[in-house]
Amino acid sequence: MPHTKLFIPGPIEVSQKTFAAFCKPMIGHRSNDFKKLYASIQPQLQTLFGTKQPVFLSTSSAWGVMEGAIRNLVVKKVLNCMCGAFSDKWLDVSQRCGKQAEGLKVEWGQPILPEALDAKLATGEFDTVTLIHNETSTGVMSPLKELCAVVKKYPDVLLIVDSVSSFSAVPIPMDELGIDVLLTGSQKALAMPPGLAIFACSERAFERAATMKDRGYYFDFIEFKKNQADDMTPSTPSIAHIYALQSKLEDIFAEGIEARHARHAKLNALVADWVVRNGFEFFAPEGYRSKSLTCVKNNKEIDVAAMNARLKERYHAVIDGGYGKLKGKTFRISNMGDETEQTISELLGWLDDCLKG
Ligand SMILES: *Cc1c(COP(=O)(O)O)cnc(C)c1O
Repeated sequence: MPHTKLFIPGPIEVSQKTFAAFCKPMIGHRSNDFKKLYASIQPQLQTLFGTKQPVFLSTSSAWGVMEGAIRNLVVKKVLNCMCGAFSDKWLDVSQRCGKQAEGLKVEWGQPILPEALDAKLATGEFDTVTLIHNETSTGVMSPLKELCAVVKKYPDVLLIVDSVSSFSAVPIPMDELGIDVLLTGSQKALAMPPGLAIFACSERAFERAATMKDRGYYFDFIEFKKNQADDMTPSTPSIAHIYALQSKLEDIFAEGIEARHARHAKLNALVADWVVRNGFEFFAPEGYRSKSLTCVKNNKEIDVAAMNARLKERYHAVIDGGYGKLKGKTFRISNMGDETEQTISELLGWLDDCLKG
């Protein structure tokens, strides 16, 4: 069976180079070799995060750190910005952690807007906000800079930002924006196998966490900080992922961060042209469209599942047929990771063929 190439918005294709790094021989996680590996990637990670803070490696998917952030930071009440599947779930997760939580809810397909956030925070009820920068389920990118500026007006409110599907595709300067926890995962914008989450915390976040009683162990941010001082992780990490990350960082810095951002913008524009050319519409409003994936509104009422089946059968590739309640009503095309003008153009040609029936 030939491999089916993934154009779904995560997990995405992993390069042979990354896989080769993933398969390196094992080393002890308390050895000097490990410490050297860990320390060697810190400067590049800090540059990518736009932070002077240590960058932590968590052997979990993103949700581990998303839940951890709630347990480490929420004292009074958390405001969960909700605009799609992943951001909606954060309210549920907050409540399951036993926290007071409330949603700032907009319809799927809409962004979170600064005025609405400001109005909620003005109540003084909240000490923490969760925000998903790029809502992967709907293809909406909320205006991060403007939202961060709103949170800055409230000195007692900490901001947790999930950048799972936007990290390294667009700039997210953590310190400059005043983000208190910035987190991402391995299998989306970074094009690595699933299983690693990467995150950093502000000084304010550490101060708050230090006062928290029930932060547990596995995702205790203070424990991560303590171990990081010795170039280690609290528990045995997926060392394979760290080798893969080292290799991926090599790729990113060889291309150049700005060139990487420009490539994503260009590929995203190619997909947008295809959408318009074929008479489809976008699920996200103009100005709030993701740069790393496109959520296409199925206004022509095509049989999305049938088109995708043809794509798989004829070209050994798949796109996504719509997330949850948007299944069949939308479809999503990823331009994350290592895709190039050539691979995206090729995909769009295949889609043209598969649209015909
Ligand atoms: C995929 C995704 C997650 C969840 O990631 P897991 O790896 O399944 O934990 C969270 N947030 C966003 C924006 C995502 O796209």
